[in-house]
Amino acid sequence: MMLRVVPENSGQLVPLDSAAAGNESRVPLFGLDAAALAGVLAEEGEPSWRADQIIEAIYRQYIRELSSITTLSLDLRQKLAAGGWQIGRPEITKAFQSADGTERYLIQCPGPTAETVETVWMPEGDDGEAGDGSNDEARASNETKDWRRATICVSSQVGCSVNCQFCLTAKLGLQRNLTPGEIAGQVVSVLDRHAVRVGRDRVNLVFMGMGEPFLNYDNFMAAVRLLVHEVGLSPQRMTVSTSGIVPGIERFAQEPSDLRPKLAISLNAPNDEVRAGIMPINRKWPISSVMDAVRRVRLRPHERITFEYVLLGGVTDRPEHAREVARLVRRTGLPAKVNLIAWNPGPGIPYGTPEPANVAAFRKTLGAEGIPAYIRQPRGRDIFAACGQLKRTVEA
Ligand code: SF4
Repeated sequence: MMLRVVPENSGQLVPLDSAAAGNESRVPLFGLDAAALAGVLAEEGEPSWRADQIIEAIYRQYIRELSSITTLSLDLRQKLAAGGWQIGRPEITKAFQSADGTERYLIQCPGPTAETVETVWMPEGDDGEAGDGSNDEARASNETKDWRRATICVSSQVGCSVNCQFCLTAKLGLQRNLTPGEIAGQVVSVLDRHAVRVGRDRVNLVFMGMGEPFLNYDNFMAAVRLLVHEVGLSPQRMTVSTSGIVPGIERFAQEPSDLRPKLAISLNAPNDEVRAGIMPINRKWPISSVMDAVRRVRLRPHERITFEYVLLGGVTDRPEHAREVARLVRRTGLPAKVNLIAWNPGPGIPYGTPEPANVAAFRKTLGAEGIPAYIRQPRGRDIFAACGQLKRTVEA
């Protein structure tokens, strides 16, 4: 079969004559940006402004079938379908609902493989990603929904290679990187399910699902560009968390500040010795090298770096650990806050949940040392949706 490469951003190969092909071998338009769509249309002899119609339909009106884009002529819809194109948005195939309102989804990406990724919807967030009192502005803005603000937790890889010892996802190992369309598609599928009005409803994104975004850097940032330019979400309402991939942080520091999400570092330990024991990646990039890289990120006015800190009972939750963490954070010289996460239990992981009193004391100690700290509320523990629990656990 003859193949051609579609315009930048997808790296996919397109069958030149796939009219007879089934849906699974059709090529997704979803994931292509305006320039790439204009390239597709040019090959069909269509003007580039038609790309805006497709963007409006698939990224903003959440249309899932090519035949339903009625702003395109019937002839063009048929021409695209005959050329082997489909919208091809990733779809929610299974939803688990928690007693606390959190929903965890298995999302199927179109194509020959049957892999699913996990995405989580948290109405009212978890008090971590904002943690700055900005929740209040959402209260008055959403009269028609049963949520006032929400957070979507997005995956960047199938599985993960980083091997944090407290994380269920690590048990999968890395299976593959997600494409830009598969990353952005998780978001659009969830926006569609909850009829989110982008620009009106208050929705935050956290790239803290399965995988290490900075080990899939190009696709991750291409997805961010899609979400900002084509879907219309604000990068200031997005946070990406990294386990401390120094070359990734250095590249991130070069991104234009009107395009990049906020940065969170998954710190989780007070010093290199403890961190290397629970996060083997620390042997490659110790805390000092991570902090040096973080200092290169030019922050926007009022922006803060977030340090995520998972408290493991008896391992990382002692008062002296809190004082060490405060010293580390102060030494960065950056405006920063710490999000505390009481470890969520998972089968086969040999750690204990910290005592609530220890979590509260940890926060108090950080506060006394001048470091703002917030306790992230565990969301969806009963459906394995909480932080570090994503492993496509089908029973719920
Ligand atoms: S915590 Fe994040 S980086 Fe670490 S293994 Fe789990 S998914 Fe990967």
